[in-house]
Amino acid sequence: MQNWIPGWSRKAPEANDGYIAINGPDIWRPEEGWIHRWGAAEGAVPDGEEPVFVGTLDGRALYAGPLDPGFLLYQASPVSLRDALINEPDAPADLLNLASQVMQWWHDHRFCGRCGHPTGFHPAERARFCEPCGIPFYPRLAPCVIVLIRRGDRFLLARSSRIRHHFFSLIAGFVEPGESAEQAVAREVMEETGLKVSNVRYATSQPWPFPHQLMLGYFADYESGDLVLQEDELAEADWFLPDDHPPVPPETTIAGRLIRQLKQEMLS
Ligand SMILES: [Zn+2]
Repeated sequence: MQNWIPGWSRKAPEANDGYIAINGPDIWRPEEGWIHRWGAAEGAVPDGEEPVFVGTLDGRALYAGPLDPGFLLYQASPVSLRDALINEPDAPADLLNLASQVMQWWHDHRFCGRCGHPTGFHPAERARFCEPCGIPFYPRLAPCVIVLIRRGDRFLLARSSRIRHHFFSLIAGFVEPGESAEQAVAREVMEETGLKVSNVRYATSQPWPFPHQLMLGYFADYESGDLVLQEDELAEADWFLPDDHPPVPPETTIAGRLIRQLKQEMLS
C-alpha cells in the first residue's frame, strides 16, 4: 500500500485531488486504478451531495462521494465493495473501507436524532454536528467477534444458513451492550453451537464495512458439549483436520487469516 493517511478536513477539493466514486454498494473505478481526478469528476456530483474528505494518499488529498450515473456510464465501471475487498487482493482495502464507511455515515446522519435539526460539519473533527443540541455524530462502528475453535487435532467450521456461500466459515456475532469481547465469544459459540469454550484469546482484527463492523478475531479451545446448531444461523458445522477441510473464505478476510494461522500452528 502507498502512503495512506486517513484524516479529516473541510477544505474544498482542487483539480488534481482524488475522488473515490461510491454509488450505493458499488465503487466506480476509472479506466485505471481506483481514484478519479477531481477536475474530471467535479461536474458530475449530484445535486445535494458534497465531496467528503477522507485522507491523503502519497500527499494527494482524497475525497469520496457519489457521481451522476450518466457520467459513470461512460467514464467508469462498477465493482461491488464486497468483491473489491474479498476478491481483489490488489484493491486499496484500507482506503475503500474508510471511504465507504464515511459515506454511509455521512448519508445516515443528515439530521439530529434528538431534535431533528439538519446536521452540519463539526468545526474540528470528523463528525456531523447539531448546533442547537451541541451533539456530534461520529461514524458508527459495531464491534463483532469471530472465533476459530480448536479441539485436539481438529477445528470447527460452519456453514451459514443465511448467506449462500459455497464455503465454510467461523462462528461470529455482534458484541452486546455491557459485554466484553471475550464474553461475546463464549455466548455466541454457546448460542449457535451449544459448545462451551475456554482459553479465549485475541488474534487480530479487520474493519468490515457491511455496513460498519469491526471484526475482532479470536482463537478458543473446545471445553465441553455436543454440537447442537441454531438452525436460523447455521446450516451445518463439523470438526475438520487442517489438511482435509471444505473450501474456506480467502485470506482477504479475517476468517481466512485465522484459519491459515491455526493450520500453520497445527501442521508445524
Ligand atoms: Zn439536535
